[in-house]
Amino acid sequence: MTAPGIDLERVRRDTPGCRERVFLDSAGSSLPPTPVLEAMVAHLHREARVGGYVAAAERADDLSGLKVSLARLVAADAASIALCDSATRAWNDFFQAVPLAAGDRVLVTEVEYAGNAIAVLQRARAVGASVDVVPSDDHGRIDLDALDRMLDERVRLVSLVHVPTNGGLVNPVREVADLAHEHGALVLLDACQSVGQLALDVVELHVDALSATGRKWLRGPRGTGFLYVRPDLQIEPAELDLHSAEWTAPDSYRIAGDASRFEFWEADVAARLGLGAAVDYLLELGVDEVERAVRAGADRVRADLSDIPGVSVRDLGEQRCGIVSFTVDGFDPTEVRDALAARDVVVTVSARTSTLLDMSARGLDAVVRASPHYFCSDEDLDVFVGAVREIAGR
Ligand SMILES: *Cc1c(COP(=O)(O)O)cnc(C)c1O
Repeated sequence: MTAPGIDLERVRRDTPGCRERVFLDSAGSSLPPTPVLEAMVAHLHREARVGGYVAAAERADDLSGLKVSLARLVAADAASIALCDSATRAWNDFFQAVPLAAGDRVLVTEVEYAGNAIAVLQRARAVGASVDVVPSDDHGRIDLDALDRMLDERVRLVSLVHVPTNGGLVNPVREVADLAHEHGALVLLDACQSVGQLALDVVELHVDALSATGRKWLRGPRGTGFLYVRPDLQIEPAELDLHSAEWTAPDSYRIAGDASRFEFWEADVAARLGLGAAVDYLLELGVDEVERAVRAGADRVRADLSDIPGVSVRDLGEQRCGIVSFTVDGFDPTEVRDALAARDVVVTVSARTSTLLDMSARGLDAVVRASPHYFCSDEDLDVFVGAVREIAGR
């Protein structure tokens, strides 16, 4: 994918793994660029020399800079960002804080992620709330008219997945948020698959909270994630510690005024420094350039795959992004994945249980998921498409 704005040679030099194989799994766990790896390894060495506290104190500026960078990425204030160890943790930290009582309702979409759905079902059962699914429209996006009809004053939260884990669909966000707010409901955006590949502006999107992970499109380390919480939102975390709150008297404490009230004290400092390096790397490339390059690569792959007899591209939506989902007639998606792996092409399989409602509605058990990032070359994509053609033709 020749994106005018991205120096492909440089980003490939910074990504040794992408020269050894065709790597198409940035929606699963991407290849971190060298600065990320170096930041982490250097910090681990430093911790072993001087101890974790001293090592962290030496990097205090970079650690506070991480929030500034994440805030820049989503157009928020640093004070509205909480650092977490996964997107699931970030999502749950907000969800568990949303007041929910018997008779209340939570709305989810057909592309809801399993981890979120399970948490919603568990809590709804415990408190006697109900969970309703907003149907998709003919293009596979959330049906805004249906949402409008389903919203009432009992809806406490609308859980919206920006880009589902199993395909290239991009859901509308602003429209959902504005409808939800008319009825007093909060909107929690799962941006796990959009942050790092799409430009995002939380103020423009009007969401109350947003969760994301480090290891996917951001190319950060595993075990990292973050939560954005709208700064003027009065919401108390379900769990506190001595970092999210201060013990001020024998029987009282004061909760932190910013989003750090959603953080615990202990953290993997090396991973945070790695995430900071990843976000700064992305900001330096330019999020808009990255979005353009990712979309161009995925569009090309979709078009090429559609031309192969026996291959069905399964992506929903009119507006699409960097995730390409497909099936091959006569082959289980895991067989396709393994046959590609044998040719040094890395893709993953998205199983029905990850997005149960959508996959069941479409009668799909699994899809092959290819997620080319901006560091993939045209030759990489040729190799991939050629390999699929070979597999499908057997
Ligand atoms: C991967 C994914 C998650 C979970 O992210 P973790 O960092 O593994 O917790 C949540 N939502 C979507 C849509 C995902 O694809």
